[in-house]
Amino acid sequence: MENTEISWTDNTFNPWMGCTKVSAGCQNCYAETTSLRTGKKLWGSGIPRHRTSEKYWAKPLKWNAKAIKAGNRPRVFVASMADVFDAEVAATWRDDLWNLIRECPALDWQLLTKRPENISGMLPADWGDGWRNVWLGTTVENQDMAKLRVPILREIPAAVRFISCEPLIGYVAVPLDGIHWVICGGESGARYRPMKHSWAAFLRDLCVEEGIPFHFKQWGTNNKVKAGRLLDGRTWDEFPAPAA
Ligand code: SF4
Repeated sequence: MENTEISWTDNTFNPWMGCTKVSAGCQNCYAETTSLRTGKKLWGSGIPRHRTSEKYWAKPLKWNAKAIKAGNRPRVFVASMADVFDAEVAATWRDDLWNLIRECPALDWQLLTKRPENISGMLPADWGDGWRNVWLGTTVENQDMAKLRVPILREIPAAVRFISCEPLIGYVAVPLDGIHWVICGGESGARYRPMKHSWAAFLRDLCVEEGIPFHFKQWGTNNKVKAGRLLDGRTWDEFPAPAA
């Protein structure tokens, strides 16, 4: 598809931009840095978020039509420049997003958040056991966040539940029952915090043992191209089976 270099998705879609930092994984928030570079101050509590244009919101409808024609199921990562479950975003904006997702059943929507505690109260009324085209994920950068966020996510009905351990900044060792997919990646950028091989390998081994698809996105560092995507000599590009 068209607009991302992220290995675990096909498109990114940002219904709005802006956020507030909530945990250690946010320390070097790439989205905030990018936003500041363009002169936009959208981060922090009480600071209004920026909704993207109507024209931009029409893009997924085109991707959906294209997917129906091609007979495939592209993945769409929602909010690389925000958090879908940010309580400071107007509920009406999120309602519009749910409506868009509903209108695009040929796309698998990947909603990744650092605020899983807000998910339950922000789901649409007809969520039921989870819409078949929505994957719910939470970021788990270290063991503290794993202990806090994984149990919350596990209890939420969803076609696919996933965790993104990026930037991985410590060991993550929690039971992964109820989790269908694990992404792992090191931090990139000038102020990157190095990911140890042992942290990534531990997570990979846990997934292999439990039969959970494992996706190794990158080592990161200040030269992510050079650092590459090989873990123990191979790529790990596994995905869960689409539910829809
Ligand atoms: S939740 Fe995501 S977008 Fe928000 S501050 Fe943290 S890293 Fe940045």
